[in-house]
Amino acid sequence: MAKRVAVIGSGVAGLAAAIRLKCAGHEVTVFEANDYPGGKLSEVRLGPYRFDAGPSLFTLPELVDELFDLAGEPKGKYFSYEKVDPTCRYFYPDGTKVSAFAAHDRFAEEMEKQTGEPAHNVLKAIKKSAYLYSRLSALFMFSSLQDWRTFFSKQALKAYLSIHQLGFFRTMDAANRKRFRSEKAVQLFDRYATYNGSSPFKTPATMNIIPHLEMSIGAYFPTGGMHTITLALYGLAKRLGVSFHFQTSVERILHKKGKVTGIQLKDTSIPFDRVVSNMDIVNSYRKLLPDLKAPNFLLNQPKSSSALIFYWGIKGSFEQLDLHNIFFSQSYEEEFDHIFEKGTIYTDPTIYINITAKKNPADAPKDCENWFTMINVPNNTGQDWENLIQSARASIIQKLSESLNCDLEALIEVEEVLDPIKIESKTSSALGALYGNSSNNLFAAFLRHANVSQRVKGLYFCGGSVHPGGGIPMSLSSAKLVAKYFQ
Ligand SMILES: Cc1cc2nc3c(=O)[nH]c(=O)nc-3n(C[C@H](O)[C@H](O)[C@H](O)COP(=O)(O)OP(=O)(O)OC[C@H]3O[C@@H](n4cnc5c(N)ncnc54)[C@H](O)[C@@H]3O)c2cc1C
Repeated sequence: MAKRVAVIGSGVAGLAAAIRLKCAGHEVTVFEANDYPGGKLSEVRLGPYRFDAGPSLFTLPELVDELFDLAGEPKGKYFSYEKVDPTCRYFYPDGTKVSAFAAHDRFAEEMEKQTGEPAHNVLKAIKKSAYLYSRLSALFMFSSLQDWRTFFSKQALKAYLSIHQLGFFRTMDAANRKRFRSEKAVQLFDRYATYNGSSPFKTPATMNIIPHLEMSIGAYFPTGGMHTITLALYGLAKRLGVSFHFQTSVERILHKKGKVTGIQLKDTSIPFDRVVSNMDIVNSYRKLLPDLKAPNFLLNQPKSSSALIFYWGIKGSFEQLDLHNIFFSQSYEEEFDHIFEKGTIYTDPTIYINITAKKNPADAPKDCENWFTMINVPNNTGQDWENLIQSARASIIQKLSESLNCDLEALIEVEEVLDPIKIESKTSSALGALYGNSSNNLFAAFLRHANVSQRVKGLYFCGGSVHPGGGIPMSLSSAKLVAKYFQ
């Protein structure tokens, strides 16, 4: 029977949940606090420059395609993308450069040539990542861990039988150190821990599953930039008849006798049969459900890292740079110790530059580039961000000026900054964490909140802060799991 469903938040998971539930015949209304859809997946415009505001790496695009298929819309009509090759250009402090070509053999040869790491070790690492994906993805990325049947499935059985090969019992860094001879190869493969806001020195080697997404399934660039994912899903939801209310913050989720009854806005309450919260899970409980006993053990799990981003309009163009570029720090160990132990920023952070104008020239004026310049930083626990940002900015400019042989400061035409405090205020993410809980321990996958409430019937959760985790693919998967509960 058709239900009246409220979706709180129009992040990528909120949009996907709205589409899925509308396609299933329900009446769906989305309430969004901002005056734009997409949450973290939005854009920034500064004069003639356009930037993707948050996510820049698009993997598992079929999870977006699936939504158009579900709605019966032709593939490619409203949303398209191209494969990225090379996936990334890496720059090391000693001047070594590596292009991560999409073809495995070519990338392995490049690693051997530039870093001395034997090509066969690189190929083995890629194969191992594929093995982890084949054993674990169905279980941890696309199934509910709250459903006991998951643990008795064929996939689970396969995982139990290979438990010692799944990397649960050592860290990502330890596994990479054992596999590779070159410190540069270790650093390159350790970087994948940051894809869910974790530390390679803490996260289990199971997370070596992540390179498979980028290196084998592929890294993609949506035509027009990442923000078109939001625009395409928002457009699809509207065509299907989902209603949207922007600048409308939900203040409470209403429930009575263990059952959802509706939502409370500033001046009015609206009855609903079901509510899907795409708000960060910590704030869903603390702000929208203050009268409900919260699962504090889950909510208090350590959060992922955050980010400091400088959106820079650059008067100049750099041939040596591509869409994705990484400038490694001297010491990853020091860098992650600063992020996760000391709660501050290392003086020589690894710098990521995303330049969408390399693919979409309209994002910057002629002979100019739009630099999304990001470093990983701790989540917000009340640090003196003003000072930290100033000194990080100075170190970034100095490092990039030296590496690229330019006076970068003089080339910055426009600037905007995004920091952990702003990430929290713009998207309600607890502590400004990018990916909800970190995966810095063995049990992290089991310590994320479920997609369905055990305490209030008719209440569901989707997005990067709940199962199966952060990032666009996982957020889209969470929406799919929510829709399954409606069946
Ligand atoms: C800087 C940065 C870089 C990233 N890089 C990548 C990347 O390269 N690849 C990748 O896959 N992922 C990346 N991520 C992570 C990815 O962006 C997120 O995991 C994903 O977008 C989370 O989506 P979500 O559905 O959880 O919603 P969010 O984007 O968190 O949005 C939640 C929405 O809910 C709204 N909301 C909250 N509370 C209320 C309320 N009470 N009433 C009404 N509305 C409310 C908010 O305004 C917001 O619009 C990055 C994130 C950031 C910030």
